Amino acid sequence: MAKAEETVLEIDLKALGHNYTFLRSKIKPETKFMAVVKAYAYGSDSVAIATYLQNLGVDYFAVAYVNEGITLREGGITAPILVLHPQKTHFKTLIENNLEPSIYSKAILSDFIATAEETGKTDYPIHLKFNTGLNRLGFSTEDLPEISTLIEQQKAVQVIALLSHLAATEDANETDFTNLQLERFDAICQQADALFKTKTLKHVLNTSGIINYGDAQYDMVRSGIGLYGYGNEPHVDAALKPVMTLKTIISQKHTIPKGESVGYNRKYKSDHKTITATLPLGHADGIGREYGHGKTYVSIHGKLAPIIGNVCMDMIMVDVTNIECEEGDEVEIFGKNLSANEFAETAQTITYEILTGLSQRIKRIIKN
Ligand SMILES: *Cc1c(COP(=O)(O)O)cnc(C)c1O
Repeated sequence: MAKAEETVLEIDLKALGHNYTFLRSKIKPETKFMAVVKAYAYGSDSVAIATYLQNLGVDYFAVAYVNEGITLREGGITAPILVLHPQKTHFKTLIENNLEPSIYSKAILSDFIATAEETGKTDYPIHLKFNTGLNRLGFSTEDLPEISTLIEQQKAVQVIALLSHLAATEDANETDFTNLQLERFDAICQQADALFKTKTLKHVLNTSGIINYGDAQYDMVRSGIGLYGYGNEPHVDAALKPVMTLKTIISQKHTIPKGESVGYNRKYKSDHKTITATLPLGHADGIGREYGHGKTYVSIHGKLAPIIGNVCMDMIMVDVTNIECEEGDEVEIFGKNLSANEFAETAQTITYEILTGLSQRIKRIIKN
């Protein structure tokens, strides 16, 4: 039986390659591919993931914040990197690290032009983000003439791309709304092409957009979750391979007589003799308290063991009454055998949240 040493997050680069090939097969050969590696590449390891993808020929990377882009540059990533939500206070370091900002308001545009001028730049590449219905970040269509005037009056920056973000590409009940967002984006692109002197790249699709709205791939697509092996829909999940597997070890087993309790606040009470296993990971590692109380399972030798009682900061206890196992045996929290999707659903959340919430104290192991 498999033995383990500690809690680790295994990162399977072959699975990443498989997912990339699958997603690429859904778009035209000439369409550029932007790999979204924000939030430590969805909780994994952004430099390891980006290095592997750069070698496979990925055109572009995206991160949320400037410090994430700097980590990639320091890790040797030379491909263009878009920063989706840069903060004004980091504009100078953004430029020093040759990162490309997504600019989403007139104030941010003016501030960025000022910084680019101060640093003596000409034609520094920027992307303009438009709000087409997510109502989170972005210019509105009406801003276009003013943006165009601002751009024409200076030489420090150059608009190289236009983007928008879709609210519900995975939701078959919202196709009308998604199509409306796409129509709005198309109208923005047409107006912008008439206003701007330079040709721009257009990009709007995320992973589920690639799957469900391929006609709108424009010049580039932006994929995150699909690369990591999850597609927001069962038929897509089936074609992808999970990149991350969270594994741990049985630290200790206990036999709990009828009437005893397990863990803080005595939240598990045994009405029969129960055998438990204590595992070295808890809410400080990203397994929140919502995963306790018997709703969520981990996998031990292919059998499901419910997490019982309150999740502690550094430990969880699972019920192994019906599972043959020993102290030192390996436990899979989620990954290859137990989908992170299903794991997340037991706590009424989504794969994105469980993956990106895995704490940095979990050791990352790169495979293949
Ligand atoms: C995170 C993000 C993506 C990636 O979305 P997935 O669903 O993970 O493919 C794409 N575009 C923007 C603007 C994002 O913030």
